[in-house]
Amino acid sequence: MKSENVAELARREGLNKFTAYFLVFLHVGAIAALFMFSWKALAVAAVLYYITVGLGISMGYHRLHTHRSYKVPLWLEYVFATFGALTLEGGPIFWVATHRVHHQLSDLPGDPHSPRDGAFWSHMGWILWGDANHSNTKLLSKYAPDLAKHRYYVWLNNYHWVPIAVLGVGLLAFGGIQMFLWGFCLRVVVGLHATWAVNSATHMWGRRRFNTRDDSRNTWWIAIVSFGEGWHNNHHAHPTSARHGLAWYEFDPSWLLIKLLKVLGVAKAIKVASVNSLLVSEREAA
Ligand SMILES: [Zn+2]
Ligand SMILES: [Zn+2]
Repeated sequence: MKSENVAELARREGLNKFTAYFLVFLHVGAIAALFMFSWKALAVAAVLYYITVGLGISMGYHRLHTHRSYKVPLWLEYVFATFGALTLEGGPIFWVATHRVHHQLSDLPGDPHSPRDGAFWSHMGWILWGDANHSNTKLLSKYAPDLAKHRYYVWLNNYHWVPIAVLGVGLLAFGGIQMFLWGFCLRVVVGLHATWAVNSATHMWGRRRFNTRDDSRNTWWIAIVSFGEGWHNNHHAHPTSARHGLAWYEFDPSWLLIKLLKVLGVAKAIKVASVNSLLVSEREAA
């Protein structure tokens, strides 16, 4: 993996018009949802939010597929990846490649989404104006060869919009416009901003427990909306740890689920850091 290739993922290009129009559509739908409230619609959106952001992104794309911080049977990997695609954050090979580059070059030139290039850029600018390599599976596979070995991941990366399109049509067909606005538009918009905040806010606001070489911070309110992903300074200090909330008061629901899966014999080979552990770089140097 050569560092000069890494800039491919962080190149600034023209506005991705399709992405921009679709994001405007989703935000308009999300606001419209607020005028069509029902408890049932809220419950459907909340369950889908946990399935997609909690199981898909936090448990799947991030802790499992990118960092391999624990192991589960392949069928469950595929289930988590499919849930991840339902967030509209792209396919697994795109997500993993982008995030691995983020760890390689955190807050340095070549980081796809660093607030040092502007807070708005790190939040959603990189999606709107960044290189449109979402489906360039061949290029992205260089950064995620472990995923590119599996035909399902390659397919899901190329057709990451298929599962969410099926879900959207299903919500509309069986729940009408209200379920579509809540379960699709509002749920996707909140999930996108929660994930984007891990890239933007947790590199700007919060406390630093570990003196990492990047700007990462622990931000409690982002941990709440992202199921534990807000303990981002802990995570940059110990990227392969399945546990992100290292202190007992650091709420980390994904870690609790990994512990439960371990008891059930489903999750194995779990890597974990403790609050007193050294930085990865310190440990390597020792
Ligand atoms: Zn980061
Ligand atoms: Zn990470």
